[in-house]
Amino acid sequence: MNLLVTGAAGFIGSAYVRALLADDGPDAPGITVLDKLTYAGTLTNLPERHPRLQFVRGDIRDAALVDKLMADANQVVHFAAESHVDRSINAADEFVLTNVVGTQTLLDAAQRHGVGPIVHVSTDEVYGSINTGSWTENHPLAPNSPYSASKASSDLLALAHHRTHGLDVRVTRCSNNYGPHQFPEKVVPLFVTNLLDGDRVPLYGDGRNVRDWLHVDDHCRGIELVRSKGRPGEVYNIGGGTELSNRELTGLLLEACGAGWDSVEYVSDRKGHDLRYSVDWTKARNELGYRPLHDFATSLAETVAWYRDNRAWWEPLKRRRSR
Ligand code: NAD
Repeated sequence: MNLLVTGAAGFIGSAYVRALLADDGPDAPGITVLDKLTYAGTLTNLPERHPRLQFVRGDIRDAALVDKLMADANQVVHFAAESHVDRSINAADEFVLTNVVGTQTLLDAAQRHGVGPIVHVSTDEVYGSINTGSWTENHPLAPNSPYSASKASSDLLALAHHRTHGLDVRVTRCSNNYGPHQFPEKVVPLFVTNLLDGDRVPLYGDGRNVRDWLHVDDHCRGIELVRSKGRPGEVYNIGGGTELSNRELTGLLLEACGAGWDSVEYVSDRKGHDLRYSVDWTKARNELGYRPLHDFATSLAETVAWYRDNRAWWEPLKRRRSR
């Protein structure tokens, strides 16, 4: 079986590929990674060589390339995206081009070659913001940032390809991921690497925005369950079960890095900042047996230790980010 994985030089896709390569069971797939290596992608996230891994540098909008790769693929897991909300607020064009047009290019090619399932990795941000309770998969989408609007568009395009053309598309909507190998612009690696360097950390507004935290390996297990056991045309929420305000998360990261609140710089709130995200993942639990296995406190400590021990991974990326 040949699996085409897009965007796997990034944070979550590379964790997914590393997990698949670690399992040499009889059903172990051959994996082709298609990644453009934008500022967010790095080959240091993937093994240099592996008999089951092929890396292709390219753009998911390159219809000829995608068509060629799709001809050799049986299934797809689609991670490739512009993924940082702040960047989408500064300039949204790349978000529409990659997240919407790129996804459309993949779906068209998959349809031509009869490829499926295609797992489309979406986000809980497509639901908007919720003050109390949690979203089920049937909740209407109401995205607020250019990033989440572009993800909602691609999520709906994927589902439309199932309804219109019968393509076997399955959509996952997950909460905020944390873990090793995350580009140091997202809050956990940004704060940890700043603190390790003795720098201050920027906390948005009053820090009361709430996010649900999901270990990247739990997310990847959820994606694999959806790929292997999910149903065509269905959406599955994947949550972590640890809701924290940004202020609470900041307190934990300060403590883990041995720093105090004087290391915090309060900065103006993100424009249109969603107050709270919360997914109900009962469907994934009941249908697929999904549940997060990582204890948050232990895994956060391990994540901090990973950044402490892997400066050689993040220092070049941080320099790249500031260029
Ligand atoms: P990331 O930014 O770390 O990685 C994205 C990868 O996609 C990079 O390797 C980049 O080079 C590649 N890419 C970007 N544009 C491309 C293009 N046009 N063609 C080919 N490759 C391209 O992102 P991530 O955090 O690993 O997120 C992966 C997916 O999960 C995204 O679809 C994102 O929307 C979704 N998601 C992420 C989170 C999170 O907490 N990180 C939460 C919910 C959903």
